[in-house]
This record gives sequence, structure tokens and C-alpha cells, in this order.
Amino acid sequence: MADPAPTLSPAELARYSRHLLLGEIGVEGQHKLARARVLVVGAGGLGSPAALYLAAAGVGTLGIADFDTVADHNLQRQLLHETASVGEAKVASAARRLRATNPFITVVEHAEGITPANAVSIFSTYDAIVDGTDNFASRYLNNDAASLTQKPLVYGSVFKFEGQVSVFDPARGGPCYRCLFPEPPAAGSVPGCGEAGVLGALCGVIGSLQALEVVKLISGIGRSLVGRLLTYNALAQEFQTLTLRRDPHCPRCGHTPTITAIDTKTYAPACATPATPNLPPMNDDYPLEISVSAAQQLLDQSPCAVMLVDVREPYEVEIAAVRGAECIPMGDIPSRVRDLPRDEHLLIMCHHGGRSMRVTSFLRSQGFTAVTNIAGGIDAWAEQIDPALRRY
Ligand SMILES: [Zn+2]
Repeated sequence: MADPAPTLSPAELARYSRHLLLGEIGVEGQHKLARARVLVVGAGGLGSPAALYLAAAGVGTLGIADFDTVADHNLQRQLLHETASVGEAKVASAARRLRATNPFITVVEHAEGITPANAVSIFSTYDAIVDGTDNFASRYLNNDAASLTQKPLVYGSVFKFEGQVSVFDPARGGPCYRCLFPEPPAAGSVPGCGEAGVLGALCGVIGSLQALEVVKLISGIGRSLVGRLLTYNALAQEFQTLTLRRDPHCPRCGHTPTITAIDTKTYAPACATPATPNLPPMNDDYPLEISVSAAQQLLDQSPCAVMLVDVREPYEVEIAAVRGAECIPMGDIPSRVRDLPRDEHLLIMCHHGGRSMRVTSFLRSQGFTAVTNIAGGIDAWAEQIDPALRRY
């Protein structure tokens, strides 16, 4: 941030006048914002409000990284995108909206998203990173790359009705994400990949707080959330601030770190197929998991000996369903165990294969041997078997 101060045009001075009126920001602070380069990782629920506020605030260079495309079910909370953008790359949709919000800034599109291969080189060209991602693999990657490049990482996360915000900045003495959680949770132990709901306006609260922390960091005002975790409960309307300590044994920022570079093999999605639990011995006829095409073959070949059980919620079944499936929401399975036939091969299906694997494991623990998970769920079914099924 050592460039000579850019000159703000009269039009810009007028646009930012409510910032300039704040003595703590003023013309000097606005110049700092204009010189700043901020990267928002994820143009989703958190990235939307964060990027919109940073663009409006006059952050001179705003990077947006996302590999995904806009889907219908994003529009409930991802305000960067509109109905007409469904199917378009999120970075393109986001950049259009941000440039329309503020034509005085430069928006940089990173359409491949942040990957283990590009994280360090992209992060090193920015002053601050906003983590707007929604999965553990990305969160650990962002943490490690931000800390390796010595950039502050403005972290935010939401789950159902609760949110968290912090600033991880070991280069300036604070802890990192791994100081709190050294390793990702076991695969399948946490909901993810669209299985957990989230209140749209909650993303607005948390993403806006992330933008606020960035503006504070750049303009050098206030007390940042470095070393503190702000938690928010939307149902109770309560904020709490917890003190975070740096872990001297942290694998990334501790005294003897074991993570000293980005190893491309260690950032696998944690919400893929859950880990295989301890189960009764496997029978070759009834594998723990099969593909959608194998499931379809079984259903076609022996419709009387095979039963398709859809464990999604009723509203999901209304969106899309495979014909002939018996619908029992996951939560009802324990009370419906007695209704399930033990002389038929049960094929368990959900949205992406996570919930159905839990049900498969549960049924095997109840003595069912002929029970198999359908990998990828109805989403894979729509992709590979029946394109007429609506995806969500
Ligand atoms: Zn650490």
C-alpha cells in the first residue's frame, strides 16, 4: 500500500462524502481504500454482502474468486446474482453487479476459484482476503494460504441461525483458524454440501460484518477482531465475543509448523462421502455404496427384490423425485425400521449421498445386511440418468 495517493475525482469525492464526513476515515482513509486490493473468496451468501459493501465503499481493486455457476437455490441469499443470471458463472454475474454499483473501482474475476494450485500466487497479490466459502476444505486452504502469504484473513461462517466472524492474522500476532481447529472434522460428521439450511438475512449480517472488518483494517481504525471470535445467534438476537489464543503447537502458525507449503493432496472436500463406520462384514452382493447407474440397473432388473428408499424431506421430494421411491425422511427412519423389509435389497437415496450414507450405516447397525447407499443421490441421478429431474 505504498503507492502514491491516487487523486479522487470530484465525482468520487461526492460519492464517498458520507465516509469523508467521518473524521476517522476522511480523505486519507478514502485514499487508503482506493489503493487497497481485497479478494473475496466465494461469490455466495457471505461474499455477496461483503463484496457489495466493499465495492460501494470504494475499495480500489476488488477480486472475486468462484468456480461455480448461479443456481435457482442461490437466489434466496446470494444478492450479487439475479434470476436472469441462473446458469451464468458466478464471477461474471458478480462482476457485472459490482461494476454497476461502483464504476470507479476495478473488479478482477478469478473464474477458476481458489485452488491448492493457485491460492498462494493469487493471495500474494492482495492486501486482505475475505473468506466467504462454505466448506471445510476451502476454509483450511484459505487459512493456510493467507497465513503463508502473511495476509489478514477475514473469516465468516453461517450455519442455520448462527454465524461467526473473526480476523486470522498470525503475521500480526493473532491466531489462525488452525489454532482453533487444527484438523478438518471427519468427513461426513458435519452437514455440508447444501444439506444444512441457512437464513438468508443471517448471511447479510455476517457478510456485512466481514466488510466492516476489512474497512477497519485498511483505514486503520477501531479494534479489529484479531484474537477474538464474534458469534451471533439470530433467533435470540445475541452477539458474544470470545477471546482466541494463539496455539504454540498450531500446525500452521505454531513454533514448529508442519504446514509450510500448500500440499495439493490435503484439501479434499470434507462433505464428500462420509467415512465408512464399523459395520457388519460386507456381503459382495450388497456393497455399502453403488453408483446411480448401478442402482438403476438393479431397479430395472429385479424391481420386486429391490426397494428404493428416498430419505429426503417432503419439500425436497416435491422438487424432484425418482418414480417408485418409498419416501421416508431421515428423521423418521428409526421409528420406521420395523416397516422396512429385510428380504429386499434396500437402496438408500438422498440429495447428494451424505444423509443416505448415515441411514445406510444406521440400518446396518440394526442388522440389515442388504442395504446400499446410492452415491451422489438424486443430484447425480439427475445429472447422469434423468436430465428432466429438477436440480436444486
Ligand atoms: Zn495457528
